[in-house]
Amino acid sequence: MKGSQENNKEYIRSTCRLCYNGCGILVEMKNGEPFRVKGDPIHPVSKGALCKKGLASLEYLSSGYRLTQPLIRVGSKKNPQWKEIQWDSALELIAERFADTKKRYGAESIQVIKGGAKGISDVLLKKFADALETPNYTSMASICFVPGEMASRFTYGYYAVPDFDHPPRCIIVWGCNPESSAISIYNDINKAAKKGAKLIVIDPLKSRLAQKADLWLKPRPGTDLHLALAIAHVIIREKLYDRNFVDRWTTGFEQLEKHVRAYTPEKAANITWVDRDKIIEAARLYATNKPGCIQWGNGLETNLNSFQTCRAIAMLRAISGNLAVPGGELRWAQPRTENVFPNPFHHAQANTGDENHERLIYERHQKSLSRNDNLAPFARYVTPPRVVKSVIRKDPYPIRSAFIQGSNILCSYPNSRETFEALKMLEFVVVTDMFMTPTAMMADVVLPAASYLEFDSIEAPCHLP
Ligand code: SF4
Repeated sequence: MKGSQENNKEYIRSTCRLCYNGCGILVEMKNGEPFRVKGDPIHPVSKGALCKKGLASLEYLSSGYRLTQPLIRVGSKKNPQWKEIQWDSALELIAERFADTKKRYGAESIQVIKGGAKGISDVLLKKFADALETPNYTSMASICFVPGEMASRFTYGYYAVPDFDHPPRCIIVWGCNPESSAISIYNDINKAAKKGAKLIVIDPLKSRLAQKADLWLKPRPGTDLHLALAIAHVIIREKLYDRNFVDRWTTGFEQLEKHVRAYTPEKAANITWVDRDKIIEAARLYATNKPGCIQWGNGLETNLNSFQTCRAIAMLRAISGNLAVPGGELRWAQPRTENVFPNPFHHAQANTGDENHERLIYERHQKSLSRNDNLAPFARYVTPPRVVKSVIRKDPYPIRSAFIQGSNILCSYPNSRETFEALKMLEFVVVTDMFMTPTAMMADVVLPAASYLEFDSIEAPCHLP
């Protein structure tokens, strides 16, 4: 977006796209070129804050390691040699090879893989998959936000985010270190703590936030589900839950009460290695200092039992009466940009009213790698392990070719060894990236990608209550 003049300096207002948070940035221009990046103080979510990664945006932009020309591999995958080719030749080659794969094995044998959110280019990638007629489109969502989103939607129908503006009287930071991963949230938490909010940090590592916390719980990794159920046990046993909310808005509370009876703090202490008294103290602090909120993070979602863990935490929000209250947790609502910016995840779920469109989505899904994986009906992404298994074990059928956009799957997918084997076995791989990553080294064709500062897009930050 064209920016303003300030102190005789020209700024362009934009959004950092180096992660999902979408912090507001001001790009200072000098002689028509980006010169410096700083936080945009009027951005409603980030309020001027930028993390170190965002501040280094121009280093990515001008890095000498950037790819600038399409490359074709001429050596083997073990000893790759690279030859520069023109864009037209690269695109022709890609079109020919995908057409050939489709003719010989069917469109579903082509896998389209996306990395982190890249705004409008994600939409175009989904359209590319649709044009290829492959139902096999995947991202890292299943080990990122999907367990939390699914758990929230199954429990209370929407994704809730903390309302730091009012502010909360108790904050639980669970499985995340926002100082590193979401700087605006880190600032919000600190502000609320200064105003007197009780701070509970649940993290095996002693982050700076953990050092400042009123209570730091240090669970054995992978045991957060037991911890959440033990906290629910204490809240229910000591009758600290919000009776009014429970009576009015919940079903199945008796079953929950029965279910958590076995998860005593003593039992949880053995499993989680968190002191029994600290579990009880956390439950009391959260349930009696209202409004309260739980800022969760990927530490839960990249772990064992991620969906059920998030579900147990979602229930804590509900029984404590902290949903839909100022200073508690509010419904996350993106600005309505879906017509121009459809999230493929939501798009697949949307009832367009067009029967042909719905039938097409259904028929495509019937051919998807994940059709028998018992995913939620609105989950149309294929999960990364399923992609890898399909290549290696041909289960349920083999993927032969892949188009990978901005995703270094050798480093980001679970089980790098198997992912490496899968990349070796694929007959044809295209990678688009800004840099020659380990994954790009396994490609047949590498296309240089633009930085987020080099193309127009429409963005919506993910933490907008
Ligand atoms: S937290 Fe904000 S500044 Fe940092 S990478 Fe993400 S969007 Fe950019």
